[in-house]
Amino acid sequence: MIKKILEEQFGFNSFRPLQQESIEAITNKKDLLTILPTGGGKSLCYQLPALYFQGQLTIVISPLIALINDQVMALTQNGIHADKLTSELDSEEVSEVYRKLYNKELSLLYVSPERANMDGFKGLLNQLDVSFIVIDEAHCVSEWGHEFRPDYRKLHFLKEEFPHIPIAAFTATATSRVADDIVEALRLSEPVRLKGSFFRDNLILNVKKRVGNGRVELANFLKNYEDESGIVYTFTRKETVEVAKFLNSRGFEALAYHAGLKNELRRETQDKFIKDKVKIIVATIAFGMGIDKSNVRFVVHMDLPKSMESYYQEIGRAGRDGLKSECLLLYSMSDVVKKSELMNSIEDERYKNFAKNKIEELYAYANSRECRHKAVTGYFEESLDECVSLCDNCQKEDIAELDITKEARMLLSTIYRTGQNFGKAHIVDILRGSKNTKVLDNRHDTLSVYGIGDEISKTSWDLIVDKLFEIKALKRGEFRQLVLTQFGANVLKGQAQVSADEDIFKKAGKKVSLAKKD
Ligand code: ADP
Ligand code: MG
Ligand code: ZN
Repeated sequence: MIKKILEEQFGFNSFRPLQQESIEAITNKKDLLTILPTGGGKSLCYQLPALYFQGQLTIVISPLIALINDQVMALTQNGIHADKLTSELDSEEVSEVYRKLYNKELSLLYVSPERANMDGFKGLLNQLDVSFIVIDEAHCVSEWGHEFRPDYRKLHFLKEEFPHIPIAAFTATATSRVADDIVEALRLSEPVRLKGSFFRDNLILNVKKRVGNGRVELANFLKNYEDESGIVYTFTRKETVEVAKFLNSRGFEALAYHAGLKNELRRETQDKFIKDKVKIIVATIAFGMGIDKSNVRFVVHMDLPKSMESYYQEIGRAGRDGLKSECLLLYSMSDVVKKSELMNSIEDERYKNFAKNKIEELYAYANSRECRHKAVTGYFEESLDECVSLCDNCQKEDIAELDITKEARMLLSTIYRTGQNFGKAHIVDILRGSKNTKVLDNRHDTLSVYGIGDEISKTSWDLIVDKLFEIKALKRGEFRQLVLTQFGANVLKGQAQVSADEDIFKKAGKKVSLAKKD
């Protein structure tokens, strides 16, 4: 029966991992939590049983109107009776949906969380014959997820007031903390819990320190992908426009996309991308949720995503067709600082620290020498052997280490001698003997450290500063100024050594006058 529906209604001849198990839990009237990565095929897990329970209604709660619209349209095109209740509908349209519901004309009803929490919806549940309720993108119930929605958290009323209706929750967010929170928040009763593998063996994962604004690196990367589709993520809306322009000037077809664009333009841009009329979308993270385009060959991040969950979801948009695809993450310590500062506006102290830690976790991932696939799947509590050839770290030959203790001490000494009151740019100006007014006004040209580092390029100094942050020799003061930690003080006194990968300095280009570590 189930197999027949799969073939006849959906046109697939086999299940993907855990689809069958999920479907069986639902048809056995059990509560369910299924964790499958983006693109794993979660929709089928509930759309198929919705048809299995003929004559009954399946309710799907989904967080985004755009997602709801897409799914209802796709189902309708497939000849499946589906409709929706969202804030977009006027009262006449709502009445029409109600009419269909009372006439038992629908197999699936999609509902936004806001609607689900309205009293009218409870009334509806009391009157209809509901087979099961789906909570899609269920991580939205959890404050520990990355897309918390207060309206989702209130959905516990479903189980409390309608304990006889099974609930099936789906998400791609896989930490056990979030999973436990979902079960608890929705009051699931002895749920079947299923979790798929997060290893994407067709994705090549590359991570690099960003030099400057990273655009040269981006253009070089894209040379390998002429005429291929891909997404470039930037942090700000302004950057989407600038990077798209830059790519256009280099002969690439690219369009910008962000939440500030008019709806119509957003839809048009997304549509062009899906239909291969434009190859590259340069976007903020507003782009991508629910986009089901199979031939995305690359995803580039121009700076650090806000968490491992976001990173995984964004790279997950590449290679849904199973063909080899490449992901490039360009990052810098300044991304962490920039994003942490934005988080200072979060009032809840606990949540603020949690969000800051998420970014730092991702920075540690970016900076690490461990297999990327091992690190990513490890984050989702899955253990994997090293990928051998699918990530930059596994492809890298052993890299020589450089002893940069001398340079680190020059830098720390300059910070110390200027009272730990200045930012990176000024400190590097002093080291390189700049004659700019800020240096002269502060009489920093009279310091003994003035100009002692003019052999070393500005970019290399930036990377040394990054390294000192990484090893926690430096921290930021209240006004973003560079401040020595206890460990930094030890380095300055010559009590601790500092070394760095040689390739870090190669990337910085030109002047590398550092001593090789023996
Ligand atoms: P998710 O919600 O898990 O991110 P979707 O439900 O949007 O994923 O499914 C992703 C894609 O996989 C869709 O294009 C869907 O048609 C396809 N798909 C789902 N199940 C199967 C299957 N058993 N065989 C082939 N393709 C499938
Ligand atoms: Mg989905
Ligand atoms: Zn690897």
